[in-house]
Amino acid sequence: MRRFSLKSLISEAFNAHQGWERQWRTPEPKAAYDAVIVGGGGHGLATAYYLAKEHGLTNIAVIEKGWLGGGNTGRNTTIIRSNYLYEESEAIYEHAMKLWAGLSQELNYNVMYSQRGVLMLAHNSHDVQSFKRHVYANRLAGIDNEWLTPDEAKEFCPPLNISPDLRYPIVGAALQRRGGVARHDAVAWGYARGADAMGVDIIQNCEVTGFRRDAGGAIAGVETSKGFIATKRVGVVAAGHTSVVMARAGLRMPLESFPLQALVSEPVKPAFPCVVMSNAVHAYISQSDKGELVIGAGTDQYISYSQQGGLHIPIHTLDAICELFPQFSRMRMLRSWGGIVDVTPDRSPIIGKTPIPGLYVNCGWGTGGFKATPGSGNVFAWTIAKGEPHPINAPFTLDRFRTGRLIDEAAAAAVAH
Ligand SMILES: Cc1cc2nc3c(=O)[nH]c(=O)nc-3n(C[C@H](O)[C@H](O)[C@H](O)COP(=O)(O)OP(=O)(O)OC[C@H]3O[C@@H](n4cnc5c(N)ncnc54)[C@H](O)[C@@H]3O)c2cc1C
Repeated sequence: MRRFSLKSLISEAFNAHQGWERQWRTPEPKAAYDAVIVGGGGHGLATAYYLAKEHGLTNIAVIEKGWLGGGNTGRNTTIIRSNYLYEESEAIYEHAMKLWAGLSQELNYNVMYSQRGVLMLAHNSHDVQSFKRHVYANRLAGIDNEWLTPDEAKEFCPPLNISPDLRYPIVGAALQRRGGVARHDAVAWGYARGADAMGVDIIQNCEVTGFRRDAGGAIAGVETSKGFIATKRVGVVAAGHTSVVMARAGLRMPLESFPLQALVSEPVKPAFPCVVMSNAVHAYISQSDKGELVIGAGTDQYISYSQQGGLHIPIHTLDAICELFPQFSRMRMLRSWGGIVDVTPDRSPIIGKTPIPGLYVNCGWGTGGFKATPGSGNVFAWTIAKGEPHPINAPFTLDRFRTGRLIDEAAAAAVAH
């Protein structure tokens, strides 16, 4: 694969950009692979990349029913942070954060990772208690997170309205300066390109429709819309459709799938310097490098597989945005969309083995898995390659919903996430 470099960019500029190759192949599926990953989102592609790079497993395929990154990876608002409450969560999101820092160099692909700071607004005394608890827990774990007064928050984010007359006044904020955003589809494309270069077959427009098991009950292969593929190891990374895929293997997952919506404004000059989240009013906002304000809402209240969601949800979010940032109230919204997020009862992911030998699952990232993409793929690849969990994902078992050993980030944050 030809590397991107200043030299190659300049030479292509003089060549009308005719010399670039396709970034990954379009192979037909082989009859058999050493491992198959179901789902060509960021997590699935990262898993394939690390399986090939760190574990030498290159005879593998990623099977994607649509196009790469067409699921939640290409639909999310790209907020990256690691300031979760529990040690288990801190470990996995921090693992990802460290990989994010070098990802563009690692992949030789600009994922536009921008550490512009994530500011989480507190609107009431409960928020203050909860966020301060996060600040202290994070600092004990060596993770940056700091408490700001309303004036300090405004200094960090000048467009913020800190008037005490707001319906939800700002009484403080938690700031993770290392947090930020990245370009979502570049992450999928970068991992796809890297995995393909190591021999991974990426097969798009191919749906996994079932699983075949051997006489002992172990995985023997997957049925797909392009025929049967034999394999003894399958990793399912299908986000909002995980329950549907796993049901085809006879497993019922502790997941609910909800639409989660986002929208972008018309592009404007740089006006917004950081990321702001308000869990209480369910609004989060940043500005893309194209100039659009990228705005995210809370989940719809009803489970559904519709990638549209109810109109009242973004309207509620825009009410909050206009109150927090009155100067944006006359901006026009360009487009909105939804993704289907897979939510576990404790709002933490499931990464590991299943009761079916050879079948692994990585799901339950809900509304917050983009930030984990590199770390999640990295530890899931380890788990599939070695047949045992990496120490970081060992607590995120499916079994915790039986044993009760939950990692309850929902209760910790007291929001729907
Ligand atoms: C509007 C919105 C905003 C969000 N904002 C943020 C945010 O700011 N920060 C953050 O960290 N996270 C955020 N998230 C969550 C984040 O997007 C996801 O957790 C993450 O992208 C999941 O990645 P994935 O690779 O697991 O899933 P996906 O990208 O959804 O990939 C799963 C893939 O599996 C494929 N698939 C499904 N069924 C099959 C099948 N039978 N056969 C083959 N392929 C199949 C799908 O087509 C899909 O491409 C947001 C999500 C949404 C929807």
